[in-house]
Formats: sequence, C-alpha cells, structure tokens
Amino acid sequence: MFRSSLRELRSAHRWTPTRQRHPRALDKKLTRSFGKRGYTVIAIETSCDDTSVAVVKARHVHLRNLPSDVESSGNGGARSQQKSLALDVIFHEKVTANNDAYTGIHPLVALESHRANLAPLIRKAWRVFRQHDRERHTSDQQRHAEGNHSHPNKLERTPADRVPALDLIAVTRGPGMRSNLSVGLDTAKGLAAVWDIPLVGVHHMQAHALTPRLMTAISNHEAEGRDNVRELKPAFPFLSVLVSGGHTMLIDSAGLTEHTILAETQDIAIGDFLDKAARAILPPALLNPPYGRALERFAFHSKVRDTEDKTESLDASEAVEGHRHFEGAEYIQSCIPKYEYTAPVRRQDELERRSTEWGWALAPPLMERKGGESKRMVYSFAGLLTSVERLMKRDEPFSLRERQDVARDAQRVAFQHLASRVLLHISSPDTEWKGDTIVVSGGVASNRFLRHLLRSTLDARGFSHIKVSFPPIELCTDNALMIAWAGIEMYEARYSSGLDIGPIRKWSMDPKASDGGILGVGGWNNDK
Ligand code: AMP
Ligand code: ZN
Repeated sequence: MFRSSLRELRSAHRWTPTRQRHPRALDKKLTRSFGKRGYTVIAIETSCDDTSVAVVKARHVHLRNLPSDVESSGNGGARSQQKSLALDVIFHEKVTANNDAYTGIHPLVALESHRANLAPLIRKAWRVFRQHDRERHTSDQQRHAEGNHSHPNKLERTPADRVPALDLIAVTRGPGMRSNLSVGLDTAKGLAAVWDIPLVGVHHMQAHALTPRLMTAISNHEAEGRDNVRELKPAFPFLSVLVSGGHTMLIDSAGLTEHTILAETQDIAIGDFLDKAARAILPPALLNPPYGRALERFAFHSKVRDTEDKTESLDASEAVEGHRHFEGAEYIQSCIPKYEYTAPVRRQDELERRSTEWGWALAPPLMERKGGESKRMVYSFAGLLTSVERLMKRDEPFSLRERQDVARDAQRVAFQHLASRVLLHISSPDTEWKGDTIVVSGGVASNRFLRHLLRSTLDARGFSHIKVSFPPIELCTDNALMIAWAGIEMYEARYSSGLDIGPIRKWSMDPKASDGGILGVGGWNNDK
C-alpha cells in the first residue's frame, strides 16, 4: 500500500508541470495556468477533537456570471469588485474522537483519534478526487469531440494512471492543542514538500469567522449558468461572535487579517458552560454528545411538557432538524418550536432576575453588589455555572418539567449575556462601527434558541436593519472546509507559509495583541 502511494506521488510529480518554490513564481503560475480551470485545495483540520479533510476547487468568476480569466484582471478575484470566487466541494468528511468516557475532551484520546483517522481520511479524499478528475476529464473530452464532430470511437481514453494535481494545502496551524495540531501540520508539510505545492497555515478562529463568505462561494458554484453570482458576503467590516467549546469572543472584523477582540471570556467558554450545565441538568439517558446540543434539544423538546417523569419515552433524535440560514422575521416565524421568549426592550429589563414558577431565579453574569451589571466588555460564565450546579444539587428531586425550565433559563441567561456585549458595542456613541452584519460562528452557533434570541433582541432594541448571519449547522462546528476557505482567502491575498512553521497553542487574531495577531507570528511569505 505504502509503495503504491509513493509511486503515485512520484508520477504525480512527473505528470504535473514543474513548480517553483518562490511564492511570486507560484502565484504567477496559479494566475497563468489556473485562471479558467481554477485550482484545487486540500485542507486538514486537527486542532481539537475533530479530524477533518476537505478537497475543493476554487475558481474566479465574473459577477455577471462570465467565467473569468484571472490574467485579464491581474488582481485576485476576492479583492476585485467585478469578480468573485466559486467553490466546488469535491470531498469533505470528519471523524470526531470518542470522549464519552470523560467529562470533556481528553487530549490524548483526541490525539490518538487524529493519528488513527487522518491518513485514512486523506487517502479517501485522494481517491475521491482522482475519480472526480477522471470523470471530468472524460466529459471534457466528450464535449470536445462533439464540438469537433469526431467519431466516439476516436475519443482518447482517460489513462487509468492519470494522476491529477492538487495545487495548494491549507492546514490549521493554531490555536489549539499543540500535539494535536502537529499531526495535521506535519502531514500537510510532508505532502506540500513531496508535491512541491504551496502551504497555508491557517488560524482556526479566523476560519470560523470567514465561514459565511465561504457560503457565498459555494452558492456561486451552484449558480453557474444562472445570473446570480454574487460578491463575497459579508463584506468587511462585520462583527463576529465566535462561540465554541474553547472560545467566547466578540470580534470586529475589519479585514481579512484585521480582527479586534472587543470582548472575551474571563473564565470559561460558553460551550464549556453549556456542556457542564447539561451534565448537571439532563437525565443521564438524554446526555449524548455534543452536550450543548443535548441541552438545547431537552430544553425545547415539546414532549417534555406532556410527559410525566418517564425519561425513556423521550427520543432525542426526534428533535427538529433542518434550519439553515435565516434572517430577520422569516427565521423567527419559521422557528420550530415557537419559543416562549420576549426580548427585553430596555437594558434594565435584561438585568432583572426572572423568577420561575418553581421559585428560583438565575442571575445574569457580572452583576455587581449595587444591583447593576458591569458594562465591562468581558464575558463570564463560571458564576452562572456555579448557580446552576448548586440548584441541581438540592435535596428535593426535580420533575422533568422543572429540569426543562432550568435548561431553558440557563440558556436564556447565557445567551442574553452574549447578546448584551453586542448591544453595548453597536449602541455605544463612541463606536464607529460601520458594518451591517453580525456573524455568529463556532459550535454553539448551531443553537437555534441563540439564533432566535439574538435576532429578537436586535429587533427589540432598534437594530432590525442589522443582518445576523449563521453558517449552516454542519459548518458551525470544527471542519476542514472552513480551513480550505481561509487558506484560499489568504492565498488570494498572496500569503503562503514556509515549510518550517510549527503549531501555535495560543494565537491571537488581533494585530494589536502582544503576538501581533494572525500575521504577527513568523512563517508567512507575502508576495504583494
Ligand atoms: P467547537 O469548539 O466549535 O467544535 O464547538 C463545540 C461546542 O459547541 C461544544 O461545547 C458543544 O456542546 C457546543 N454545541 C454543539 N451543538 C450545540 C447546540 N446545538 N447548542 C449549543 N451548543 C452546542
Ligand atoms: Zn472551532
């Protein structure tokens, strides 16, 4: 097996045109040879517990749906007003480490899972890509022959040993667990070295933030032949709320590599809060990973309302699936279930403890002794977690309905707190924020109640003109497609990475941070 793949790699090297090392030469080559047919990117993500691989083809397109030749513009499609990018997803899969036996992600379990799964996933991706390439080659030839009125028997057969070329490798460089990152990064460096193709070491959080732009590129591919190719949206600047298992951040994204962190958690991440709250609240039979999703399903599962304390009769898989990308009232009306939630019209209302029929109330985070809430631009979820855990430890047993109310209220308070910093920023007279879009990304962004709460809060507070953009649920959690896309955006901006780069455990996105943000760390080649 090993030998045959080596042979493939060697013949790939013979078959593809010789590539040069210098980024400028590489860029010229990309521009010259891949203008019309595009370029193919393989991407690898191993920063946490998901091992993911994607193969995509990126192509420049004119906004009025004309196929573009990059040479004629001399300017990357991502940066041109007239041009955009189209993205064809050829392969995208992931394997998530099984951490069921632990209270969170066990680094060694995740590491072993990357070791076991990355190479087989890459081999699978490579085979799918080869098959895809062969089919394209054959259909191109058929079209060509039809155009020349050749006899079908005269068609040149696609050679069985034809080895297609991948043009670029994107891989997560950080932030994340160093050893886990290394599995992906070292593999990517090896492939980049052998195939002699450029490498982009991607910032994982930047990739989450750029995911909505990726969605435009995918729909541009799907729009081929119709008149609705669009420029990449949202345009900079936009606000990003990154909510995941390890991060809670509000970011002002002014440009591809210019992200200012406006608020960050001072203790635990919101995903961590939801996971631990789920453990405290849910009946064990319903505690299936990811716990944040289990908490959401339990909280808004209508059957809990009609069920006495019979946990077995609840099937979590019955929870409603399927919402993709909604904005404004359309989303709220189409939400299933209908949430019994009214957004506070004033900030004071948001800070009130809402008593429940059971007599308990959860307090919003960062309340100060005098009763007011601090306006500090930080997030905090540790205190709220302590309140939930303390409540669930009381001697008196909980009915299923009361548990459901704890689940609902824990999410309400956490998400209102999340929204509060967005509101503080966009309503502050000192803010010069000129954007019109808020992107919510990261694993927690797949929570439909969060989507509902944020949208209705903005509407209630006079910001209904602001769009809220949520990537589709499958792209909210860690995945290689977003890494491919961030790699493409960086490469279009003429950045690539040296083969000497290493993984980065902590890596800011903000150019003003002590590490200098995305571009502040070494290892970038830039050919502007
Ligand atoms: P990430 O770190 O981006 O992969 O996100 C993982 C986090 O998202 C974990 O804390 C999950 O529990 C959480 N998560 C996944 N789905 C949901 C959901 N539907 N609601 C809330 N949290 C979720
Ligand atoms: Zn992530």
